[in-house]
Amino acid sequence: MIQPADKLGHVCVVGAGIVGAATAYALSRAGWLVTIVDKESGPAQQTSQANGGQLSYSYVEPLATPYALKRIPFWLFSKNSPIKWAPQFSMRHFRWLLAFVLACNTRQVRRSTIDLLALSGLSREVLQQWLSETGVNVDDIGFRRSGKLVIFRDNQQLKAVQQQVAFQAKHGCIQRILDKQGCLLIEPALRHDEGAIAFGVYTESEEVVDCAKLTKLLLAASGAKTIFANEVVNFNIAQRKIQSLELKDGTILKAEQFVLSGGNGVNHLLEKLGKSLLIEPIKGYSIDFAIKDTSAVPSTCITDQGHKVVFAKIGNRLRVAGFAEIVGDTLEIPQDRIDSLAADTETLFPGAIDQNDALPWAGLRPASPTSLPYLGRIAYENLWINAGHGALGLTLAPGSAKVLAFMMMGKVPPINVDNFTCR
Ligand SMILES: Cc1cc2nc3c(=O)[nH]c(=O)nc-3n(C[C@H](O)[C@H](O)[C@H](O)COP(=O)(O)OP(=O)(O)OC[C@H]3O[C@@H](n4cnc5c(N)ncnc54)[C@H](O)[C@@H]3O)c2cc1C
Repeated sequence: MIQPADKLGHVCVVGAGIVGAATAYALSRAGWLVTIVDKESGPAQQTSQANGGQLSYSYVEPLATPYALKRIPFWLFSKNSPIKWAPQFSMRHFRWLLAFVLACNTRQVRRSTIDLLALSGLSREVLQQWLSETGVNVDDIGFRRSGKLVIFRDNQQLKAVQQQVAFQAKHGCIQRILDKQGCLLIEPALRHDEGAIAFGVYTESEEVVDCAKLTKLLLAASGAKTIFANEVVNFNIAQRKIQSLELKDGTILKAEQFVLSGGNGVNHLLEKLGKSLLIEPIKGYSIDFAIKDTSAVPSTCITDQGHKVVFAKIGNRLRVAGFAEIVGDTLEIPQDRIDSLAADTETLFPGAIDQNDALPWAGLRPASPTSLPYLGRIAYENLWINAGHGALGLTLAPGSAKVLAFMMMGKVPPINVDNFTCR
Protein backbone atom coordinates (compact mmCIF):
# COMPACT_ATOMS: atom_id res chain seq x y z
CA MET A 1 0.00 0.00 0.00
CA ILE A 2 1.24 3.48 -0.84
CA GLN A 3 1.84 5.51 2.30
CA PRO A 4 -0.03 8.84 2.14
CA ALA A 5 2.82 11.32 1.81
CA ASP A 6 0.97 14.64 1.69
CA LYS A 7 3.92 16.18 -0.14
CA LEU A 8 1.66 17.89 -2.65
CA GLY A 9 -1.48 18.48 -0.61
CA HIS A 10 -4.92 16.96 -0.24
CA VAL A 11 -7.05 15.88 -3.25
CA CYS A 12 -10.65 14.82 -3.11
CA VAL A 13 -11.72 12.39 -5.86
CA VAL A 14 -15.45 11.98 -6.56
CA GLY A 15 -16.39 8.51 -7.86
CA ALA A 16 -14.93 5.09 -7.03
CA GLY A 17 -15.36 3.32 -10.36
CA ILE A 18 -12.30 2.18 -12.33
CA VAL A 19 -11.53 5.76 -13.41
CA GLY A 20 -11.71 7.18 -9.86
CA ALA A 21 -9.73 4.28 -8.37
CA ALA A 22 -7.00 4.64 -11.02
CA THR A 23 -6.95 8.41 -10.36
CA ALA A 24 -6.61 7.83 -6.61
CA TYR A 25 -3.74 5.41 -7.21
CA ALA A 26 -1.88 7.68 -9.65
CA LEU A 27 -2.25 10.74 -7.39
CA SER A 28 -1.28 8.87 -4.23
CA ARG A 29 1.75 7.48 -5.99
CA ALA A 30 2.72 11.00 -7.09
CA GLY A 31 2.62 12.19 -3.48
CA TRP A 32 -0.87 13.57 -2.88
CA LEU A 33 -3.00 12.72 0.12
CA VAL A 34 -6.22 11.35 -1.40
CA THR A 35 -9.78 11.04 -0.16
CA ILE A 36 -12.29 9.32 -2.45
CA VAL A 37 -16.07 9.62 -2.08
CA ASP A 38 -18.80 7.51 -3.65
CA LYS A 39 -22.55 7.45 -3.13
CA GLU A 40 -22.56 3.65 -3.43
CA SER A 41 -21.70 1.40 -0.49
CA GLY A 42 -18.35 0.34 -2.00
CA PRO A 43 -16.12 0.62 -5.08
CA ALA A 44 -17.13 -0.48 -8.63
CA GLN A 45 -20.85 -0.67 -8.05
CA GLN A 46 -21.95 1.14 -11.18
CA THR A 47 -20.52 0.81 -14.73
CA SER A 48 -17.22 -0.70 -13.54
CA GLN A 49 -18.97 -3.68 -11.96
CA ALA A 50 -19.45 -6.38 -14.60
CA ASN A 51 -18.35 -4.97 -17.96
CA GLY A 52 -16.76 -6.94 -20.82
CA GLY A 53 -13.39 -7.07 -19.02
CA GLN A 54 -11.41 -6.42 -22.20
CA LEU A 55 -8.25 -4.35 -22.23
CA SER A 56 -8.78 -3.39 -25.86
CA TYR A 57 -5.63 -1.41 -26.48
CA SER A 58 -5.75 -1.82 -30.26
CA TYR A 59 -9.53 -1.71 -30.81
CA VAL A 60 -10.15 1.91 -29.99
CA GLU A 61 -11.97 3.03 -33.13
CA PRO A 62 -14.65 5.53 -32.01
CA LEU A 63 -18.34 4.57 -32.04
CA ALA A 64 -19.07 7.49 -34.37
CA THR A 65 -17.91 6.36 -37.83
CA PRO A 66 -19.25 6.87 -41.38
CA TYR A 67 -20.22 3.15 -41.33
CA ALA A 68 -22.21 3.62 -38.08
CA LEU A 69 -24.01 6.63 -39.59
CA LYS A 70 -25.03 4.57 -42.65
CA ARG A 71 -26.23 1.67 -40.48
CA ILE A 72 -28.20 3.71 -37.94
CA PRO A 73 -31.53 3.64 -39.87
CA PHE A 74 -31.23 -0.16 -40.27
CA TRP A 75 -30.29 -0.66 -36.60
CA LEU A 76 -33.13 1.53 -35.37
CA PHE A 77 -35.84 -0.28 -37.31
CA SER A 78 -34.58 -3.86 -37.16
CA LYS A 79 -36.23 -6.06 -34.51
CA ASN A 80 -33.05 -7.82 -33.30
CA SER A 81 -30.86 -4.77 -33.50
CA PRO A 82 -27.98 -4.46 -31.01
CA ILE A 83 -28.53 -0.69 -31.07
CA LYS A 84 -31.57 1.13 -29.70
CA TRP A 85 -32.53 4.78 -29.30
CA ALA A 86 -35.39 6.32 -27.33
CA PRO A 87 -35.40 10.13 -27.64
CA GLN A 88 -34.81 11.94 -24.34
CA PHE A 89 -36.37 15.32 -23.85
CA SER A 90 -33.29 17.31 -22.91
CA MET A 91 -31.21 19.82 -24.84
CA ARG A 92 -28.00 18.06 -23.79
CA HIS A 93 -29.25 14.79 -25.33
CA PHE A 94 -29.91 16.47 -28.69
CA ARG A 95 -26.62 18.37 -28.56
CA TRP A 96 -24.87 15.04 -27.94
CA LEU A 97 -26.65 13.41 -30.90
CA LEU A 98 -25.75 16.29 -33.18
CA ALA A 99 -22.10 16.17 -32.08
CA PHE A 100 -22.11 12.38 -32.60
CA VAL A 101 -23.44 12.70 -36.15
CA LEU A 102 -20.92 15.47 -36.93
CA ALA A 103 -18.12 13.17 -35.65
CA CYS A 104 -19.10 10.42 -38.14
CA ASN A 105 -16.51 11.40 -40.73
CA THR A 106 -13.21 9.83 -41.70
CA ARG A 107 -11.11 12.82 -40.63
CA GLN A 108 -12.51 12.82 -37.09
CA VAL A 109 -12.32 9.00 -36.85
CA ARG A 110 -8.63 9.13 -37.79
CA ARG A 111 -7.91 11.98 -35.38
CA SER A 112 -9.70 10.28 -32.48
CA THR A 113 -8.11 6.91 -33.27
CA ILE A 114 -4.60 8.42 -33.08
CA ASP A 115 -5.40 10.07 -29.72
CA LEU A 116 -7.04 6.94 -28.33
CA LEU A 117 -4.17 4.69 -29.47
CA ALA A 118 -1.69 6.99 -27.71
CA LEU A 119 -3.78 6.92 -24.53
CA SER A 120 -4.36 3.15 -24.65
CA GLY A 121 -0.64 2.52 -25.29
CA LEU A 122 0.18 4.59 -22.22
CA SER A 123 -2.51 2.71 -20.27
CA ARG A 124 -0.96 -0.64 -21.09
CA GLU A 125 2.47 0.50 -19.81
CA VAL A 126 1.06 2.10 -16.69
CA LEU A 127 -1.12 -0.89 -15.78
CA GLN A 128 1.83 -3.25 -16.20
CA GLN A 129 3.88 -1.10 -13.85
CA TRP A 130 1.08 -0.83 -11.28
CA LEU A 131 0.40 -4.56 -11.28
CA SER A 132 4.04 -5.30 -10.72
CA GLU A 133 4.48 -2.75 -7.93
CA THR A 134 1.33 -3.85 -6.06
CA GLY A 135 2.73 -7.40 -6.15
CA VAL A 136 -0.75 -8.81 -6.87
CA ASN A 137 -1.10 -12.39 -8.05
CA VAL A 138 -2.66 -11.53 -11.42
CA ASP A 139 -4.81 -14.70 -11.38
CA ASP A 140 -6.64 -13.24 -8.37
CA ILE A 141 -7.98 -10.39 -10.54
CA GLY A 142 -8.55 -12.49 -13.69
CA PHE A 143 -5.76 -10.68 -15.54
CA ARG A 144 -4.12 -12.47 -18.46
CA ARG A 145 -2.81 -11.88 -21.98
CA SER A 146 -5.70 -13.51 -23.82
CA GLY A 147 -5.29 -12.06 -27.31
CA LYS A 148 -8.40 -10.77 -29.07
CA LEU A 149 -10.12 -11.98 -32.22
CA VAL A 150 -12.84 -9.86 -33.81
CA ILE A 151 -14.98 -11.89 -36.19
CA PHE A 152 -17.00 -10.40 -39.05
CA ARG A 153 -20.04 -12.20 -40.43
CA ASP A 154 -19.81 -10.94 -44.03
CA ASN A 155 -17.27 -9.34 -46.33
CA GLN A 156 -19.09 -5.99 -46.61
CA GLN A 157 -16.71 -4.35 -44.16
CA LEU A 158 -13.51 -6.04 -45.35
CA LYS A 159 -12.18 -3.05 -47.29
CA ALA A 160 -12.84 -0.60 -44.46
CA VAL A 161 -11.30 -3.02 -41.94
CA GLN A 162 -8.18 -3.48 -44.11
CA GLN A 163 -7.81 0.30 -44.29
CA GLN A 164 -8.26 0.68 -40.51
CA VAL A 165 -5.73 -2.09 -39.75
CA ALA A 166 -3.20 -0.54 -42.19
CA PHE A 167 -3.78 2.88 -40.64
CA GLN A 168 -3.36 1.52 -37.10
CA ALA A 169 -0.17 -0.36 -38.12
CA LYS A 170 1.41 3.05 -38.76
CA HIS A 171 0.64 3.84 -35.13
CA GLY A 172 2.24 0.76 -33.65
CA CYS A 173 -0.62 -1.82 -33.63
CA ILE A 174 0.38 -5.31 -34.64
CA GLN A 175 -2.81 -6.91 -35.99
CA ARG A 176 -3.50 -9.63 -38.53
CA ILE A 177 -6.49 -10.06 -40.86
CA LEU A 178 -7.38 -13.76 -41.00
CA ASP A 179 -9.64 -15.85 -43.19
CA LYS A 180 -12.07 -18.34 -41.65
CA GLN A 181 -9.44 -21.09 -41.33
CA GLY A 182 -7.01 -18.67 -39.73
CA CYS A 183 -9.67 -17.70 -37.17
CA LEU A 184 -10.35 -21.36 -36.34
CA LEU A 185 -6.65 -22.02 -35.87
CA ILE A 186 -6.43 -19.16 -33.36
CA GLU A 187 -9.65 -20.15 -31.57
CA PRO A 188 -10.79 -23.74 -32.14
CA ALA A 189 -13.81 -23.20 -29.85
CA LEU A 190 -15.41 -21.32 -32.80
CA ARG A 191 -15.61 -24.55 -34.84
CA HIS A 192 -19.30 -25.19 -34.11
CA ASP A 193 -20.58 -22.12 -35.89
CA GLU A 194 -18.17 -21.67 -38.78
CA GLY A 195 -20.91 -20.01 -40.81
CA ALA A 196 -20.67 -17.02 -38.47
CA ILE A 197 -17.17 -16.21 -39.70
CA ALA A 198 -16.32 -14.42 -42.96
CA PHE A 199 -12.99 -13.06 -41.73
CA GLY A 200 -11.40 -11.84 -38.52
CA VAL A 201 -8.84 -9.45 -37.06
CA TYR A 202 -6.48 -10.90 -34.48
CA THR A 203 -4.35 -8.98 -31.98
CA GLU A 204 -2.12 -11.20 -29.90
CA SER A 205 -1.17 -8.59 -27.32
CA GLU A 206 -4.66 -7.77 -25.98
CA GLU A 207 -5.48 -8.53 -22.34
CA VAL A 208 -8.40 -9.24 -20.04
CA VAL A 209 -9.12 -8.45 -16.38
CA ASP A 210 -12.03 -8.40 -13.94
CA CYS A 211 -12.80 -4.67 -13.79
CA ALA A 212 -14.39 -4.71 -10.31
CA LYS A 213 -11.43 -6.62 -8.85
CA LEU A 214 -8.92 -4.27 -10.48
CA THR A 215 -10.85 -1.25 -9.15
CA LYS A 216 -10.79 -2.66 -5.61
CA LEU A 217 -7.09 -3.53 -5.89
CA LEU A 218 -6.07 -0.03 -7.03
CA LEU A 219 -8.20 1.65 -4.40
CA ALA A 220 -6.83 -0.46 -1.57
CA ALA A 221 -3.25 -0.11 -2.84
CA SER A 222 -3.60 3.67 -3.14
CA GLY A 223 -4.02 4.03 0.62
CA ALA A 224 -6.71 6.66 -0.06
CA LYS A 225 -9.20 7.50 2.66
CA THR A 226 -12.60 6.23 1.48
CA ILE A 227 -16.06 7.63 2.15
CA PHE A 228 -18.90 5.44 0.86
CA ALA A 229 -22.69 5.68 0.88
CA ASN A 230 -22.49 9.47 0.82
CA GLU A 231 -23.19 11.63 -2.22
CA VAL A 232 -21.39 14.83 -3.12
CA VAL A 233 -24.21 17.34 -3.59
CA ASN A 234 -22.55 20.75 -3.92
CA PHE A 235 -19.40 22.85 -3.92
CA ASN A 236 -18.35 25.63 -1.57
CA ILE A 237 -16.55 28.36 -3.45
CA ALA A 238 -14.52 31.33 -2.21
CA GLN A 239 -11.62 33.37 -3.59
CA ARG A 240 -12.25 31.93 -7.08
CA LYS A 241 -11.49 28.40 -5.91
CA ILE A 242 -13.39 25.34 -4.78
CA GLN A 243 -12.83 25.29 -1.02
CA SER A 244 -14.77 22.15 -0.14
CA LEU A 245 -17.41 19.63 -1.17
CA GLU A 246 -20.71 19.31 0.57
CA LEU A 247 -21.91 15.74 1.16
CA LYS A 248 -25.51 14.62 1.43
CA ASP A 249 -25.25 14.02 5.19
CA GLY A 250 -23.94 17.58 5.71
CA THR A 251 -20.25 16.68 5.95
CA ILE A 252 -17.93 19.32 4.52
CA LEU A 253 -14.87 17.89 2.80
CA LYS A 254 -11.99 20.37 2.47
CA ALA A 255 -9.07 19.85 0.09
CA GLU A 256 -6.70 21.80 -2.13
CA GLN A 257 -7.68 20.01 -5.35
CA PHE A 258 -10.84 18.22 -6.54
CA VAL A 259 -11.28 15.60 -9.28
CA LEU A 260 -14.66 14.65 -10.72
CA SER A 261 -14.48 11.06 -11.95
CA GLY A 262 -18.12 10.23 -11.36
CA GLY A 263 -18.87 8.78 -14.83
CA ASN A 264 -22.49 9.54 -15.75
CA GLY A 265 -22.92 11.52 -12.50
CA VAL A 266 -20.46 14.27 -13.43
CA ASN A 267 -23.07 16.55 -15.00
CA HIS A 268 -25.29 16.59 -11.89
CA LEU A 269 -22.40 18.30 -10.12
CA LEU A 270 -21.22 20.48 -13.00
CA GLU A 271 -24.73 21.90 -13.32
CA LYS A 272 -24.25 23.48 -9.88
CA LEU A 273 -21.48 25.53 -11.50
CA GLY A 274 -23.50 26.34 -14.63
CA LYS A 275 -21.35 23.95 -16.69
CA SER A 276 -21.95 20.66 -18.47
CA LEU A 277 -20.14 18.15 -20.66
CA LEU A 278 -21.57 16.07 -23.49
CA ILE A 279 -21.77 12.70 -21.73
CA GLU A 280 -24.56 10.32 -22.72
CA PRO A 281 -25.28 7.06 -20.87
CA ILE A 282 -25.09 4.22 -23.42
CA LYS A 283 -26.65 1.18 -21.87
CA GLY A 284 -25.26 -2.32 -22.28
CA TYR A 285 -25.78 -5.71 -20.66
CA SER A 286 -23.60 -8.59 -19.56
CA ILE A 287 -24.08 -12.10 -18.24
CA ASP A 288 -21.48 -13.83 -16.14
CA PHE A 289 -21.84 -17.57 -16.78
CA ALA A 290 -20.44 -20.54 -14.91
CA ILE A 291 -18.46 -22.75 -17.30
CA LYS A 292 -19.81 -26.26 -17.96
CA ASP A 293 -17.25 -27.48 -20.50
CA THR A 294 -13.84 -25.78 -20.44
CA SER A 295 -12.86 -27.19 -23.84
CA ALA A 296 -15.86 -25.46 -25.47
CA VAL A 297 -15.02 -22.02 -24.03
CA PRO A 298 -12.82 -19.61 -26.03
CA SER A 299 -9.56 -18.75 -24.31
CA THR A 300 -9.08 -15.83 -26.72
CA CYS A 301 -11.36 -12.81 -26.19
CA ILE A 302 -13.88 -12.87 -29.03
CA THR A 303 -15.89 -9.98 -30.44
CA ASP A 304 -18.74 -10.95 -32.75
CA GLN A 305 -18.82 -7.71 -34.71
CA GLY A 306 -22.10 -8.44 -36.53
CA HIS A 307 -24.03 -9.07 -33.31
CA LYS A 308 -21.91 -6.59 -31.28
CA VAL A 309 -21.28 -9.15 -28.53
CA VAL A 310 -18.00 -9.78 -26.68
CA PHE A 311 -16.95 -13.01 -24.97
CA ALA A 312 -14.17 -13.16 -22.37
CA LYS A 313 -13.09 -15.92 -20.04
CA ILE A 314 -12.42 -14.11 -16.79
CA GLY A 315 -11.11 -16.38 -14.07
CA ASN A 316 -13.25 -19.51 -14.15
CA ARG A 317 -16.34 -17.86 -15.69
CA LEU A 318 -17.39 -16.64 -19.13
CA ARG A 319 -18.41 -12.96 -19.36
CA VAL A 320 -20.65 -12.15 -22.32
CA ALA A 321 -21.48 -8.49 -22.96
CA GLY A 322 -23.25 -6.48 -25.62
CA PHE A 323 -25.86 -3.96 -26.81
CA ALA A 324 -25.69 -0.19 -27.08
CA GLU A 325 -28.91 1.56 -26.14
CA ILE A 326 -29.44 5.28 -25.80
CA VAL A 327 -32.52 5.08 -23.60
CA GLY A 328 -31.81 7.36 -20.62
CA ASP A 329 -30.41 6.14 -17.31
CA THR A 330 -32.71 3.24 -16.44
CA LEU A 331 -30.93 0.09 -15.28
CA GLU A 332 -33.73 -2.41 -15.77
CA ILE A 333 -32.77 -5.63 -17.55
CA PRO A 334 -35.37 -6.74 -20.14
CA GLN A 335 -35.58 -10.51 -20.46
CA ASP A 336 -35.23 -10.41 -24.26
CA ARG A 337 -31.74 -8.83 -23.97
CA ILE A 338 -30.58 -11.57 -21.62
CA ASP A 339 -32.18 -14.28 -23.77
CA SER A 340 -30.43 -12.84 -26.81
CA LEU A 341 -26.94 -12.85 -25.15
CA ALA A 342 -27.53 -16.38 -23.85
CA ALA A 343 -28.70 -17.59 -27.30
CA ASP A 344 -25.65 -16.01 -29.01
CA THR A 345 -23.39 -17.81 -26.54
CA GLU A 346 -25.12 -21.15 -27.02
CA THR A 347 -24.98 -20.85 -30.82
CA LEU A 348 -21.32 -19.80 -31.03
CA PHE A 349 -20.06 -22.04 -28.18
CA PRO A 350 -22.61 -24.85 -27.72
CA GLY A 351 -22.46 -26.66 -24.38
CA ALA A 352 -19.84 -24.25 -22.97
CA ILE A 353 -21.86 -22.55 -20.26
CA ASP A 354 -24.30 -23.41 -17.50
CA GLN A 355 -27.47 -21.39 -18.27
CA ASN A 356 -28.70 -22.03 -14.72
CA ASP A 357 -25.72 -20.29 -13.15
CA ALA A 358 -25.86 -16.90 -14.84
CA LEU A 359 -25.54 -13.40 -13.36
CA PRO A 360 -27.22 -10.77 -15.57
CA TRP A 361 -26.17 -7.11 -15.28
CA ALA A 362 -26.82 -3.74 -16.93
CA GLY A 363 -24.46 -0.75 -17.05
CA LEU A 364 -24.34 2.72 -18.56
CA ARG A 365 -21.24 3.65 -20.56
CA PRO A 366 -20.49 7.35 -19.89
CA ALA A 367 -19.88 8.28 -23.53
CA SER A 368 -18.65 11.44 -25.22
CA PRO A 369 -19.72 11.96 -28.87
CA THR A 370 -16.18 11.44 -30.22
CA SER A 371 -15.27 8.59 -27.79
CA LEU A 372 -12.46 10.77 -26.40
CA PRO A 373 -12.59 11.13 -22.61
CA TYR A 374 -12.64 14.54 -20.96
CA LEU A 375 -9.36 15.18 -19.14
CA GLY A 376 -8.29 18.45 -17.62
CA ARG A 377 -9.30 21.51 -15.67
CA ILE A 378 -12.84 22.90 -15.68
CA ALA A 379 -14.42 26.10 -14.35
CA TYR A 380 -11.97 26.64 -11.44
CA GLU A 381 -8.21 26.35 -11.17
CA ASN A 382 -8.45 23.51 -8.65
CA LEU A 383 -11.30 21.51 -10.26
CA TRP A 384 -10.40 18.63 -12.61
CA ILE A 385 -12.31 16.16 -14.77
CA ASN A 386 -11.49 12.56 -15.62
CA ALA A 387 -14.69 11.22 -17.19
CA GLY A 388 -16.55 10.24 -20.36
CA HIS A 389 -14.58 7.08 -21.25
CA GLY A 390 -17.61 5.40 -22.87
CA ALA A 391 -16.99 1.86 -24.10
CA LEU A 392 -13.29 1.91 -23.13
CA GLY A 393 -13.14 3.04 -19.49
CA LEU A 394 -11.40 -0.08 -18.24
CA THR A 395 -8.85 0.08 -21.06
CA LEU A 396 -8.10 3.79 -20.73
CA ALA A 397 -8.31 4.35 -16.96
CA PRO A 398 -4.63 3.90 -16.00
CA GLY A 399 -3.37 6.13 -18.85
CA SER A 400 -6.00 8.80 -18.16
CA ALA A 401 -5.10 8.84 -14.47
CA LYS A 402 -1.40 9.20 -15.28
CA VAL A 403 -2.11 12.08 -17.69
CA LEU A 404 -4.27 13.84 -15.10
CA ALA A 405 -1.57 13.48 -12.44
CA PHE A 406 0.91 15.17 -14.80
CA MET A 407 -1.55 17.99 -15.53
CA MET A 408 -2.26 18.54 -11.84
CA MET A 409 1.45 18.88 -11.12
CA GLY A 410 1.89 21.36 -13.96
CA LYS A 411 4.03 18.90 -15.93
CA VAL A 412 3.80 18.11 -19.64
CA PRO A 413 1.92 14.78 -19.99
CA PRO A 414 3.67 11.89 -21.77
CA ILE A 415 1.20 12.04 -24.70
CA ASN A 416 -0.45 14.84 -26.67
CA VAL A 417 -3.63 15.81 -24.81
CA ASP A 418 -4.81 18.75 -26.93
CA ASN A 419 -8.02 16.94 -27.96
CA PHE A 420 -9.02 15.65 -24.52
CA THR A 421 -10.36 19.04 -23.55
CA CYS A 422 -13.26 19.67 -21.18
CA ARG A 423 -15.45 21.66 -23.56
C1 LIG B 1 -21.95 -3.78 -21.18
C2 LIG B 1 -20.64 -3.01 -21.02
C3 LIG B 1 -19.46 -3.62 -21.42
C4 LIG B 1 -18.25 -2.91 -21.32
N1 LIG B 1 -17.09 -3.53 -21.65
C5 LIG B 1 -15.90 -2.88 -21.55
C6 LIG B 1 -14.69 -3.53 -21.90
O1 LIG B 1 -14.68 -4.70 -22.24
N2 LIG B 1 -13.54 -2.80 -21.83
C7 LIG B 1 -13.51 -1.48 -21.46
O2 LIG B 1 -12.45 -0.88 -21.47
N3 LIG B 1 -14.66 -0.85 -21.05
C8 LIG B 1 -15.85 -1.52 -21.11
N4 LIG B 1 -17.01 -0.89 -20.77
C9 LIG B 1 -16.96 0.52 -20.37
C10 LIG B 1 -16.52 0.69 -18.91
O3 LIG B 1 -17.26 -0.19 -18.10
C11 LIG B 1 -16.79 2.14 -18.47
O4 LIG B 1 -16.18 3.04 -19.38
C12 LIG B 1 -16.18 2.40 -17.08
O5 LIG B 1 -16.66 1.46 -16.15
C13 LIG B 1 -16.53 3.80 -16.60
O6 LIG B 1 -15.90 3.96 -15.35
P1 LIG B 1 -16.13 5.26 -14.46
O7 LIG B 1 -15.27 5.09 -13.27
O8 LIG B 1 -16.00 6.47 -15.31
O9 LIG B 1 -17.69 5.19 -14.08
P2 LIG B 1 -18.42 4.31 -12.97
O10 LIG B 1 -17.84 2.96 -12.85
O11 LIG B 1 -19.88 4.40 -13.26
O12 LIG B 1 -18.08 5.06 -11.63
C14 LIG B 1 -18.57 6.34 -11.33
C15 LIG B 1 -18.81 6.39 -9.83
O13 LIG B 1 -19.07 7.74 -9.45
C16 LIG B 1 -20.02 7.73 -8.42
N5 LIG B 1 -20.64 9.05 -8.34
C17 LIG B 1 -21.19 9.76 -9.38
N6 LIG B 1 -21.64 10.95 -8.94
C18 LIG B 1 -21.37 10.99 -7.59
C19 LIG B 1 -21.61 11.97 -6.58
N7 LIG B 1 -22.20 13.15 -6.84
N8 LIG B 1 -21.22 11.66 -5.31
C20 LIG B 1 -20.61 10.49 -5.03
N9 LIG B 1 -20.38 9.54 -5.96
C21 LIG B 1 -20.74 9.79 -7.22
C22 LIG B 1 -20.98 6.61 -8.82
O14 LIG B 1 -21.69 6.13 -7.70
C23 LIG B 1 -20.02 5.58 -9.42
O15 LIG B 1 -19.63 4.60 -8.46
C24 LIG B 1 -18.25 -1.58 -20.83
C25 LIG B 1 -19.44 -0.99 -20.40
C26 LIG B 1 -20.63 -1.70 -20.48
C27 LIG B 1 -21.90 -1.06 -20.01
